[in-house]
Amino acid sequence: MFGLSIRVLRVFGIDVKVDVSWALVATFIAWALAEGVFPQLYEGLSPFAYWWMALAAIIGLGLSIILHELAHSLVAKAFGLPLKSITLFVFGGVAQLEEEPGTPLAEFAMAIAGPLASVALAFLFGWMAQGAASIGALSALANVFFYLSMINWVLAAFNMLPALPLDGGRVYRAIVWAFTGDVSAATRSASRLGVALATAIIALGVVWALLGQFAAGLWWVLIGLFIRSAASTAVYQEQMQRLFKNAPVRDFMSTEPVSVSPELTISAFIEQYVYEYHFDMFPVMRDTALVGAIGLTEAKSAPRSSWATTLVGDVMRPVSEANTIDAAADAMEALSKMHKSRLSRLIVTENGRLVGMIALKDLLDLLSLKMALEGR
Ligand SMILES: [Zn+2]
Repeated sequence: MFGLSIRVLRVFGIDVKVDVSWALVATFIAWALAEGVFPQLYEGLSPFAYWWMALAAIIGLGLSIILHELAHSLVAKAFGLPLKSITLFVFGGVAQLEEEPGTPLAEFAMAIAGPLASVALAFLFGWMAQGAASIGALSALANVFFYLSMINWVLAAFNMLPALPLDGGRVYRAIVWAFTGDVSAATRSASRLGVALATAIIALGVVWALLGQFAAGLWWVLIGLFIRSAASTAVYQEQMQRLFKNAPVRDFMSTEPVSVSPELTISAFIEQYVYEYHFDMFPVMRDTALVGAIGLTEAKSAPRSSWATTLVGDVMRPVSEANTIDAAADAMEALSKMHKSRLSRLIVTENGRLVGMIALKDLLDLLSLKMALEGR
């Protein structure tokens, strides 16, 4: 979420990462448990006991979320979907899939696996709580297990809400998809349901806050906002996948790219190209050979006073993996490359020769056109 995450584990070839946002929330929850919840629930223990109970509960919570995500991941793997990583972040966990499941069955199985794992954990912790309670001396531990059992019930129930980024939303989409055979319509329906539910959660949070439970109310409002934004972008993402996945860059590129000569001065480049075309990157061509790339960033690397004498060739950036893409590559790959290198345009090559340019704006225009056509 905040983009800063640390890898803590690697299981079954899957990276498990913890985002800074989760570490902060976990610290806050631990504090709330040790100072508020546990002393209220289980009176008469020492502050030290409350703190180690809180610590054990937080570790148990983290493990519960990881196991929930791991269940999703293992089912995804069984269906042959490549998986990047699992990240614990502020609202729980996310398993990052590289591609969407291709059939309703795969989607259904993958989505239901997480909540099922949580239910299994809820039973397991409940059983451990009973076991620990029966040995009288371990009552503090029994309380922690009982708490973890409750938390896993909550995790299962919350994730089964039929709001799209949540597992319940995916289950709902898989069912609609299976019955209608139309994944786009199923996504739109699930997205609408998600937005409606998120709005209800936000409203509930506001009411709660007004009734005096301010922190809890605010928390529900934040969760609602998160679900709302994820649910509304789900349609967009699904369309994007469908439009650009397995479609070569060649189909979307402009075949008459505007190129710049390395002999041109920076002032002339700014005047004749940047002001003229407003592109953030131009290929640099010496005769028919692609020799580099230049944009405003490279031009500005030379002091303004020297723009009349500095040449494009002096400041241009070499062509690299980051600013070029093969004409045969997947258009989805072009999008992720643009995202990574923060460029809105990429040079398209074929056997090292310039054949075109692909622009983010063109891809997005096409996407919104397609959505406008299908949206009604
Ligand atoms: Zn889940």
